[in-house]
Amino acid sequence: MKKNYLLIIIFGFLISCSENKNQNVDISIVIHGGAGTMDREKMSVEKEIEYKKVLEEALNKGYEILEKNGTSEKAVIEAIKVMEDSPLFNAGKGAVLDERGEASLDASFMSGKNLNAGAIAGVKKIKNPILAAYSVMKNTPQVLLISEGADQFALEQGLDTVDNSYFITERRRTQLIKNKSLSQIKNKKELLSPVSKFGTVGCVALDKNGNLSAGTSTGGRSNKKWGRVGDVPIIGAGNYANNNTCAISATGWGEFFIRNVVAYDISSLVEYKNLNIKEATKISLDKVKKLGGSGGVIALDKFGNYAMEFNTKGMYRGVKDSKGNFKVSIFKSD
Ligand code: ASP
Repeated sequence: MKKNYLLIIIFGFLISCSENKNQNVDISIVIHGGAGTMDREKMSVEKEIEYKKVLEEALNKGYEILEKNGTSEKAVIEAIKVMEDSPLFNAGKGAVLDERGEASLDASFMSGKNLNAGAIAGVKKIKNPILAAYSVMKNTPQVLLISEGADQFALEQGLDTVDNSYFITERRRTQLIKNKSLSQIKNKKELLSPVSKFGTVGCVALDKNGNLSAGTSTGGRSNKKWGRVGDVPIIGAGNYANNNTCAISATGWGEFFIRNVVAYDISSLVEYKNLNIKEATKISLDKVKKLGGSGGVIALDKFGNYAMEFNTKGMYRGVKDSKGNFKVSIFKSD
């Protein structure tokens, strides 16, 4: 009798231990606002403060959700919305313009819990493209919707839609003119090289239930060919999440990220080679560089370990987690 009683106590203790293990204590959010050729000498102190303010706002918004037991899905969406609404970044308002002078936006979302994913490409009217990508995931059996079909879908979902002029800023008009004139004097190969900063936005998060999510949103590349779609809405290239491995959001020269299937490559390095997140991101970005591409990634594993790797001069980036990290940075030396 006494023995049985003891067994019950031990059994109860073991169950409570395993429950605590499932209740992931580490929560974390990591963001980027694009990688590129930014120079410290060329950025005014005021501009730097402006960028950092929005990055902090995005981190705080997402972290607050995680702290209150919210899902990583919600945290990623809300953090990305902050950056899409800011004209500083190449996503939503302030997106770069294509060769025809229009904003054409791509976004994707993935949930690591069930490998569900949604994406939209070449949309011109959706105020917050990340919301449309999320709706594709949540409310349709499809993964990727494009152009007018995706714009129409957003309308049907009751998402905010705007005229294309909402996205266009003076800064992006000037950038387009500059890139167009550069393209006339350079040969085709040079034309493909990154003549300006990138500025895509992305977010990965881990919630108290151990669920990872990833989201990415972009206007693509300035002066891009009409109809061009980059890596961002290609699941596994610019965005990926899997609770068994990690969540990744990429930024950079999209064609190279597609050809290297970067986000899935990183997840696979973690899954099959047991590499840690830093090693995995470095290896994958080196492959991009070898082919002639450039850019960066943020990644977060199921334990809350993170990486913010890039092979450009800088990457707008930040992290906030329950281990006490809270940091936003821009340049390599930061
Ligand atoms: N990866 C994006 C694209 O090629 C651009 C960026 O990250 O800035 O569309």
